[in-house]
Amino acid sequence: MNVNMSPFQRRIEDLKDQYAAENPRSRELMAEAESWMPGGNTRSVLHFDPFPLVIEKGEGAKLYDVNGHVMLDCVGEFSAGLYGHSEPAILKAVSEAMSSGIVLGGPNLYEARLAELVCKRFASMDLVRFCNSGTEANVLAAVTAREVTGRSAIVVFDGAYHGGVMTFAGGQNPMNVPFDWIVLPYNDPAAAREVFIKNGRRIAAVFVEPVLGAAGNIAGTYEFLQTLREETEKSGSLLIFDEVKTSRLGGGGVQGILGITPDMTTLGKYLGGGFTLGAFGGRADIMTRFNPHEPGSLKHAGTFNNNVCSMAAGIAGLSSVFTKERAEAFLKQSESFRLRLGEALTNVHPDFHVTGLGSLISIHFASVEPKSGADTTKETRQFRDLLSLKGLLGGVAFTGRGDIFLSLPMTDSDMEIILKLIVSTATEYLDFREA
Ligand SMILES: *Cc1c(COP(=O)(O)O)cnc(C)c1O
Repeated sequence: MNVNMSPFQRRIEDLKDQYAAENPRSRELMAEAESWMPGGNTRSVLHFDPFPLVIEKGEGAKLYDVNGHVMLDCVGEFSAGLYGHSEPAILKAVSEAMSSGIVLGGPNLYEARLAELVCKRFASMDLVRFCNSGTEANVLAAVTAREVTGRSAIVVFDGAYHGGVMTFAGGQNPMNVPFDWIVLPYNDPAAAREVFIKNGRRIAAVFVEPVLGAAGNIAGTYEFLQTLREETEKSGSLLIFDEVKTSRLGGGGVQGILGITPDMTTLGKYLGGGFTLGAFGGRADIMTRFNPHEPGSLKHAGTFNNNVCSMAAGIAGLSSVFTKERAEAFLKQSESFRLRLGEALTNVHPDFHVTGLGSLISIHFASVEPKSGADTTKETRQFRDLLSLKGLLGGVAFTGRGDIFLSLPMTDSDMEIILKLIVSTATEYLDFREA
């Protein structure tokens, strides 16, 4: 062992050794996978050292790994797992749909119904189009905004994640689509006003997550989002809310909670009931540009855009499980959990902050509550490393970067278990913290 390691690093290394010892089958399977995929990986976010857990099955709010462990699932498929793993209404809808054929090659009995449910739920969406992922929805919205406005630049925020090819954590990402990006700090209305004074006529759109997700679930302030609304309106550029994650918050997404209506909205994650789905939509005058009755309409193709599994699962989810009423109740229930966790952690140490909104939660350790991606401290990163390892060893799976995503099948006693594990990890962290 490296004698220069800090007590914290040594503790992490011990836990990793314990993790490796307890998960031999995962290690074997991941080693085999390396023969065919780089590092055994086809989804970067799932990698961590020494190796990720291979999951064998899910049931309700629980995950079962190949090494025989059962865990409460706070990974929640990065929020796509809202319904848990075995929601009967979704399983039934999909098997019924599949019994009538899978690849029909024409408009089917599902897509218009799902479109109606989506448009009636989200205030900004007069018309919608489907695609296969949140990434695709955002790229399509970006191209649409450039075409509709005749402008090139797109404003995004530091720490934002709009998909694998629109990632803005800490500067340049070589995998980004090569658009004319302007990257601004999140929750900084003055910076946004200034960029519109200088570059307003060049800006096609502003993309914003109403809760900045990957950077640590940081809620946008009303003032910030309202400033974006005003500035885009004045300049004739489009305000696009990426509600891929946040549309689960309440009965109409964050746009419904705040009463701020963007020009376009993108959706994904849970929307397909756990099946692959993305959607982009907005004002009728923008979306009607895709109307194929019209000469010169914009084209948007995609073999699986209306695939029956995603359509049927999405309908079952929104119409019979995650109704507007259930969404409101889930927001209340999960927000009360978030606030309770916040109080419990503040009692452990006042520098703990439990950010996010409702069922999208992160923990930070900092002297002031973080307002942007740049506010992530070394202590926050350390605490999350500890939490994800303690979780995997203690029966609660968190994402490697420390998100806590709650899902519908979680019970109050599940949430108590999660809360206790986090609080005990926080107490342990103070013993090893490098101030
Ligand atoms: C996950 C996510 C995306 C990308 O969605 P995929 O379906 O993974 O391509 C885009 N924006 C936000 C805010 C997300 O959380």
